[in-house]
Amino acid sequence: MWFRRDESDVVVDEISPTFLNVLSELDQDALLIAPGEVIRFATEGIEALHLLRDGRLNSPELIALIRVVRRTHQTHTGKIEIPRGPIGEGLRELTVRAIYLEDLDNIVVLLSDESEAERVHEVRRDFVANISHELKTPIGALSLLSEAVLSAADEPESVVKFATRMQIEAKRLTDLVQEIINLSRLQDSDPLQVATENYVEDLVNEAIDSVKTTSEAKGIAVSSNAIPEVVVLGDSEQLVMAIHNLLENAINYSPENTKVSVSCTVNGDIVEIIVADQGIGIPDDVQDRIFERFYRVDPARSRETGGTGLGLSIVKHVATNHGGEVKVWSSPNVGSSFAMRLPIYTPNGGATQ
Ligand code: ADP
Repeated sequence: MWFRRDESDVVVDEISPTFLNVLSELDQDALLIAPGEVIRFATEGIEALHLLRDGRLNSPELIALIRVVRRTHQTHTGKIEIPRGPIGEGLRELTVRAIYLEDLDNIVVLLSDESEAERVHEVRRDFVANISHELKTPIGALSLLSEAVLSAADEPESVVKFATRMQIEAKRLTDLVQEIINLSRLQDSDPLQVATENYVEDLVNEAIDSVKTTSEAKGIAVSSNAIPEVVVLGDSEQLVMAIHNLLENAINYSPENTKVSVSCTVNGDIVEIIVADQGIGIPDDVQDRIFERFYRVDPARSRETGGTGLGLSIVKHVATNHGGEVKVWSSPNVGSSFAMRLPIYTPNGGATQ
């Protein structure tokens, strides 16, 4: 019979309470498994990781590791990957230690997320290599322009011209630094660990407000349809930033006096936030690449609009970290649609991590 020891842990059968207390008090998540892969005990975190379905293990990799331990009676350590949510490529890598307990003929499994630290370290290393290259361009330009100002000190018109260009480069540098900070924060954090409940409608409205000045300056109307009353779990700041980036691109890569729309549709457990424009579009063969850091289809145009080349990689990170994904449909000279798909949060049981 299944019953709860305290609010959090799941237990079947009688096992020494002291032993179970020890497992509960560990920093790591733990499982106690009897022959036939019967779960005798699971900490609360195991449920949150969606490792169990109907009281059985549902990770084939974990089951395989346990079978090896049962056969060999030896402790084994390995890594398993589990999805962060029902869609998207986001994976969580867990380090698993499975220990055979001779007297109980049971296996204790300890799980930890240490590998996350390693991943963050790797991502940061190659990110820094990219950044230094990107920063050199505006810094180099500022240095050349300041020399030009000095040598044109007696010609007021030239000074004004060079100083104006210095302002543009300084703004670029500021935007770039801000985006780098945003992205590196994203790469370090797991929004699902400090998640709040957010109405999609609020997120969309906040993002639309944040691009008002830019859209009005280009005579572009940003409209949104009736947004379904659905909630997503996550970091509201990050989610608004992602929708903001999609809207900002839609405006930047569209001619004046065109239309941008935001629509939301619900598909089962998933909400799709779609930002559509009537802009320049993206050629088929580079549609995969636009989510890479610092990739731009047309670097000159992107520079003109103040693009940093980081906007879409931020969107992809936010979507993936929230257990979702981002998709694009685009046709040159017709327009583009970007869809951010996120798991809908339903408080009782349906919560998709
Ligand atoms: P950027 O800061 O250069 O806009 P992003 O990462 O946001 O960088 O986008 C990468 C590239 O994808 C852009 O430089 C642009 O070429 C292309 N792109 C993004 N959104 C759109 C869009 N709505 N319409 C056309 N091209 C787009």
